[in-house]
Amino acid sequence: MSTQLSNANDEEGGEASKSTIIGPLNFTKDSSTDPPTSLVDERAVPCMFCSNTYDFHTPDNGSDQCLAHLYLVHRLVVADVKEIACLPSYCYYWKEKFAQEPVEKYCSSMLLNQLPDGTSSPNEKYFLLSDVEPLDYELRQRLRREKLELVLTRHQFERTDRNFNRGCLYCRDYRAETRPEFVSHLYTKHFLLLGKPEHLVFVDELIEIVQDKLNRLICLFCEKLFKDRPTLKEHMRKKGHKRINPDNHYYDRFFLVNYRLKQKPEYVPIAKRKEESRVFASDSDSDSDWSDWNGEEQTTTCLFCTHAEANVDTLKRHMVAKHTFDFDQTVADMSFYQRVKVVNFIRRQMHIRKCIACGEQCPDYESLCKHLAELDHFRLDKEAGAWDQPEYFFPTYEDDQFLCHLEEVDNERDELSQEEGSIVISESVTASINLDAESLSLENFKL
Ligand SMILES: [Zn+2]
Ligand SMILES: [Zn+2]
Ligand SMILES: [Zn+2]
Ligand SMILES: [Zn+2]
Ligand SMILES: [Zn+2]
Repeated sequence: MSTQLSNANDEEGGEASKSTIIGPLNFTKDSSTDPPTSLVDERAVPCMFCSNTYDFHTPDNGSDQCLAHLYLVHRLVVADVKEIACLPSYCYYWKEKFAQEPVEKYCSSMLLNQLPDGTSSPNEKYFLLSDVEPLDYELRQRLRREKLELVLTRHQFERTDRNFNRGCLYCRDYRAETRPEFVSHLYTKHFLLLGKPEHLVFVDELIEIVQDKLNRLICLFCEKLFKDRPTLKEHMRKKGHKRINPDNHYYDRFFLVNYRLKQKPEYVPIAKRKEESRVFASDSDSDSDWSDWNGEEQTTTCLFCTHAEANVDTLKRHMVAKHTFDFDQTVADMSFYQRVKVVNFIRRQMHIRKCIACGEQCPDYESLCKHLAELDHFRLDKEAGAWDQPEYFFPTYEDDQFLCHLEEVDNERDELSQEEGSIVISESVTASINLDAESLSLENFKL
């Protein structure tokens, strides 16, 4: 598709890659001063643990393949992966770390009674890499800044660079000096709409992809395959399909708007999170009094507010009455592990102030509650499956009593795993995190 990385491939590995912090540099164009199109080589992104590599620019989604591999083979889940501005750099960075230190040092671990493919098997260990780890948090922040800077620099360059000099996809005698000219020509002369030139970035690659699709006789919009060029042309013209498919996320990176810095919830250090979960458990206006402190009875905190109850059924009634959320009904047809995921998902969303139904980011807890109530979003979008991700095997709060009551729900399908005993929800989530290192690094950066 593109040849621009052929030189980089020869030079990567060896000495050159060792000198950089997050992977080998990307030599996008031979001896050229053009701004780069990526932070690192994204055509051969290494697995964090083995010698596998993934091409993040293939249409069959190299990044998904890489993440699936991490989970299936190395049992590693990356939390909030969609919010990582540059997943390739992220992989390079952690590969270097994991080459020197055991994965436990930076990841939370937990035991599940199943293999990655879902086969039941007792005490299988899994790892979660998330921004609870200070290095990970710093890395994510840094990648956001660096990626945005790269995109803006590249965009500026592409708008004015006069050495583009490229022939039209359709007509023979047209050559454009600049990228905006080229994109405008496609639209005004051939009614092919890629996007407004000022909104596009990495135009060279976008054109390569469009050309490749058309050469392979695939419609840009509906992505159906046609038998010959005239039939494809006729189809695209007649159906108004002379534009790229907006639902194909593969094109997201070509639109500047997708690099806008989204508001990120404030970072809560693990020590404070622990406090928070403790406050959650004791800051109760219910009849749980000092006698609870004997440790006989532990309270469970509401999924949506700080209300806590000793009896989980009372708490569930509270959730129905106060938040119109029927937990038992929501999870009625779910397996034990799916229920675990639902609880951890809701906790996580509430913690980062995101709606559990539509995913909207709210600035604070109050506006999130208002959103949930006004739009009737105190419900789970079961189809969308945002909750059904392996990262939600891991508890959001390490002492979440809600998780301990899930096994009490009768469910025949789960009998096997319950008989095997040891449903271990959490294996000391914080054990691997060095609190001193965390506070040190927190002082060192403020955004
Ligand atoms: Zn691997
Ligand atoms: Zn033309
Ligand atoms: Zn079509
Ligand atoms: Zn509540
Ligand atoms: Zn919502």
